[in-house]
Parts: sequence; structure tokens; C-alpha cells
Amino acid sequence: MNAALPIDSAFGGDAEVDNDPGASAVIMMVDDEPLITEVTQTYLEEAGYRHFVACHDPREALALMRLHRPAMVMLDLMMPQVSGFEVLEQARADEQLKYTPIVVLTSASGPETKLRALELGATEFLSKPVDPSELVLRVRNTLAFKLYQDRLANLDTVTGVSNRQTFTRDLREAMVRCTEHDSQLALLQVDLEQFRQTRETLGPQAADALLKAIARRLAQILRMHLGSNGAPLHMADGRIGRLGNQEFGVLLKPLSNPKSAATLAERVLSELSRPFIVQGHQIFVTPAVGIALFPSDGLEAESLIRNADLACSKAAQGGRQSYAFFSEELTVRSLERLTLTNELRRALGNDELRLHYQPKLCVKTGRIIGAEALVRWQHPEHGLLPPGRFIPLAEESDLIVDVGAWVLATACREAARWSHAGLGSIKVAVNVSKAQFESGKLYELLRLCLAESGLPPSSLMIEITESVLVSDSEGTRDLMSLITELGVALSIDDFGTGYSSLSYLKRLPVGELKVDRSFIVDLLHSREDVAIVRTVVALGQSLGMAVVAEGVESEDQLDALRDLGCDHYQGFYFSKALPNEQFVQRVLRHRSSPTG
Ligand code: C2E
Ligand code: MG
Ligand code: MG
Repeated sequence: MNAALPIDSAFGGDAEVDNDPGASAVIMMVDDEPLITEVTQTYLEEAGYRHFVACHDPREALALMRLHRPAMVMLDLMMPQVSGFEVLEQARADEQLKYTPIVVLTSASGPETKLRALELGATEFLSKPVDPSELVLRVRNTLAFKLYQDRLANLDTVTGVSNRQTFTRDLREAMVRCTEHDSQLALLQVDLEQFRQTRETLGPQAADALLKAIARRLAQILRMHLGSNGAPLHMADGRIGRLGNQEFGVLLKPLSNPKSAATLAERVLSELSRPFIVQGHQIFVTPAVGIALFPSDGLEAESLIRNADLACSKAAQGGRQSYAFFSEELTVRSLERLTLTNELRRALGNDELRLHYQPKLCVKTGRIIGAEALVRWQHPEHGLLPPGRFIPLAEESDLIVDVGAWVLATACREAARWSHAGLGSIKVAVNVSKAQFESGKLYELLRLCLAESGLPPSSLMIEITESVLVSDSEGTRDLMSLITELGVALSIDDFGTGYSSLSYLKRLPVGELKVDRSFIVDLLHSREDVAIVRTVVALGQSLGMAVVAEGVESEDQLDALRDLGCDHYQGFYFSKALPNEQFVQRVLRHRSSPTG
């Protein structure tokens, strides 16, 4: 029998019978006569024992015992099919059940029967028909003794939580279950720095009282954590054990997200940092928490405990009151990223993405010739997030394909209304990631977006980065041709930052090169940048492509670009990216101004 106690009952639990700590225990009765089990159950309920399991088919007895893990079993010996002796024998041979107290029901049986039952491991006898007062006394004594035994064998005598052995065994069982359900669990090791000094100052008795108080607070924290997770407070969800002198282990399972372990660690740190009152003294402890995850950080219980310990040392080195994961990759930052990725998945359904448009102008005439659609995320907590915060995350998962599809559809729909708003035929440029380009869905998506929005293909431009071109596969080239055959233009974004094998440009149906902002920032001071921009401009002209400068922030930069013969520009000098309505207003205002 797994005797480790749920976190409640490790501290006495909510006893239902006065002075009877076994009242919440499960009592099972194996008897083929339903009337007898019913009567027994009634007697027990009257005495306050409410968790009763009846088994009328002895062939199912073992399976039910394993399932319900009763604190004691009452077993009839005379049953059809399988006798009580056989059940007893099998239970004693079963690793999980061999220590479960089994009280044998005997009706006017002779000494041989009793002797045989004793030999097979019966704990007690109860004569049939059952007398209510004898029944209750037997049950109470058996449960009390069982509890006492369990405590001695499984619990740490100082704190009342599982001892290291029990904790390790529970951990091992939990790992098996996690493997079966393909889930994760977290092991937190909580270490109390400088506890030795505390023990020396306080003396052993007070130190033990402190440890007990710490264990109690840990149980409260765990309960709070499990409660706030919405999970039922059940013994399967959390366990506390004392792993060493001043070390506690906390088991959390199943774990939906490593973030939950980090949250629990933070709670442990803040709650244990509140002072303890022991024998009238106010005492502070310095906790550190190490976290190891199963299965990623170890497949054996022992190695997981060792790794949680290592993580704990790492946390302690990192300064007071900190926690650390065993895995380097699982830094707090990476957890934030993980959370953000999950949230982004939901953001799509919750309509949290927005498009802003940055005008693109002709350097020579100052006319607005188009706009670049730039995605933002209106995050419910963090506010408006720039694409740099989430596009790279989306690119690491397949989310970018869905985000990209949303951007394309929205840009087409909004831009289709621009001409009605009086903006004339200006192009909207949409950024498309490599993964989207290689998804095999882009072409169909484009056709669909154009058809549904009614946007003329000539009003759409796709911006791709050089990384798409580098793969230089036939598929890429074919797709580029197909897109241009639709009438949609292609632009190469951030030109000059990737591998610029100029030879491929000749072969590709590209209409525009965008000079990356990094070459524009220092244009006025860097002769090299001037030379680069001049080269790109010449290249573009010779291949019949327009050259766009990105990130133009000043009039001087614009003048320099004009001198260099650059065709178009965009940048904060004219306008940052604006929400659709504001963008439309901005263009209309510019149209009616003398420079527009
Ligand atoms: P990008 O395509 O090169 O876009 C230009 C970026 O430069 C934009 O940043 C824009 O706001 C910023 N910018 C424009 N003018 C200036 C300026 O004068 N000074 C400065 N300092 N910055 C300027 P944003 O909106 O943060 O976008 C960053 C990148 O995120 C984009 O670079 C693009 O690679 C990516 N991105 C944006 N929207 C999407 C999208 O819908 N899909 C994909 N796949 N990527 C996107
Ligand atoms: Mg772009
Ligand atoms: Mg760019």
C-alpha cells in the first residue's frame, strides 16, 4: 500500500471523527453477500467512517484494492469462485498491497481456519455476524496502528512530510504515470541557506520547530498554487518531502507548462522569506529553489533529484532568494518567450493583431506611391507590441504561416478600400516570411485574398528577404514567377544584409530592392555607406528595378539619397507606420498640400 499521505493529512487533515485520524481512510470490504456489506457500511458510517468500498466478486478484489488503495480490508473467507484465502495470499504477494492490513471475517470457524489465515498474513479477525461495537473498535485500532506504522516508515518524524525514501518512491511512480500519459512533471528542491548557523544559535529543539513550520508553510504554498491553477486539490497533484537536513523536495504534476513551476518557485521564495515565529523568536530563513523537469532533465528519480539539487546550488550562487532551472535553456527569458508563443496562438483567434501602414514616397516628386503593411500585436497586458517581439517567435513555430495569412488577407481587404477613399492606385507592400514562402500555400492564399478583397493584383507587392533567395531552389523561382504572372510585384527587403549573390538577381522577376536601414543611418558620415547605396542604385537601374531607401529620418538624408539617384524612400522623416484610418487621413492631407 502506498502509504504516503496527501499534503493535507500529512498534518492531520480534516478529521471527521473526533480523535480518530483514520476517519478519512478508505475501508474496503470483500464479501459476496451485498446485504452484509450494506449493513457493515451503515455501522461504519454511523461511526463516522465515510469512505467505504464494497467488493462482491472476489475475482475483482485485487484490482479494486490497487485502484482504491484502502487503508484496511475486511475479507470474507467463504466465497464462491475464489476463496478469501486465495485473495489473502495474492495480496501478500503483491508489491503494492503486501502491507495493507487485512481483517478476516470468520463465522464460527475452528482454530485451523484462523491459523491458516494467520499464516497467510491476516492482521486481525472479526467474527460474523458482525457486532457493531466490535466492528468499530477493530477498525479504529487497525487504522490507528496502520497510521502509526505508515508514519514511522514513510514520514519524516520532525516535520511530518514524506521522508526521502517515500518521496523518491512517489516521484518514481509519478514519473511512470507521466510517461504513460505523455506529460511532464517538475521537481523543486528548496534549500535553506545558512540553516546550520540557525541550528547552532537556536538549539536543536527550536531548529526542529522551525523545520516543522517551514514544512507547514510549504504545504500551504503548494495548496494555494494547486488551487490557483484550477486543478483539484488531490494527492496526485503535489507532494512535499524532506530530502536532507535543510532540504525539501516539492513534486508538481502534471505540468502543463514549465512556467507553472517557475511561478511556484517564486511563491516559495516570497512566502518563505516572511519571518517565522519559533519559541517567541522571529526567525528569517534564506531559501533558494532549483527546478528539474521530467522527462527533459533526467529519466531516473535519483538523477532528477540530483539535478534539482544542482539547479539549487546554481540558484544559491546567483544571489539570495533566487530560483534556477537545471536546463540552461530554460531561463526566465525563454519561459517568457514560451508564454508569448502560446498567447500568440490565441491572439489570432481573439483578433488582437493590427496592421499599421508606413507611406512610401517618390524621392524626386514627393508623391506617395505606396505603403508597407507592418503588423503589431495589441497584447491584453503588455500593450502594443512591435513585430520584433513576436515575429521571430512565430517563425520558430509554424505560427508564422497563420499570422502571415492574417496579414495578407487584412492588408488586401483594407487596401482595397483605399481607392474609394480617394487615395488613387497606391500599392500595399506585405512582408512574407521564408517559412510562408516555403509552405506550399502562398500562391493559393494570394489568389484567394485578391479574389475576396477585389484588390487589383497590380496594387499588391510582396516583400521577401534575401534568405528566401539564398535557398535558390527551382521551387522558389517557380513560385516567384507564378506570383509575378498574377500581376503581383516582388520586392527584396533589407537588401545588402544577407548573402548578396548578385548573379541571381538577373534571373529573378523582382521589381524592387529595399536598401536596409543600417546603410541609411550613417549615410551622411560614412563614405562606405554612400558607396554601397550608389552601387545598389546603379544595380537596380541596370536591372530595371526601383530602389527604395528604408529608415529615412532627416531631410539631409533625403537630399543625399536624391543626389545618389535613389527612387523611393520611407521613414520617420515623413511618417511612421500608422493605423489604417490615420494612414488614409495622412495621405489625403499630403495630397492636398503643395508638396503632395
Ligand atoms: P522591415 O520590413 O524592414 O520594416 C521596416 C521597419 O523599419 C519597420 O519596423 C518600420 O517601422 C521601421 N522603420 C521605418 N522607418 C524608420 C525610421 O525612419 N527609423 C527607424 N528607426 N525605423 C524605421 P517594424 O514595424 O518594427 O518591423 C520590423 C520588422 O518586422 C520588419 O522589417 C519586418 O521584417 C517584420 N515584419 C513586420 N510586419 C511583418 C509581417 O506582417 N510579416 C512578416 N513576416 N514580418 C513582418
Ligand atoms: Mg519590409
Ligand atoms: Mg526592411
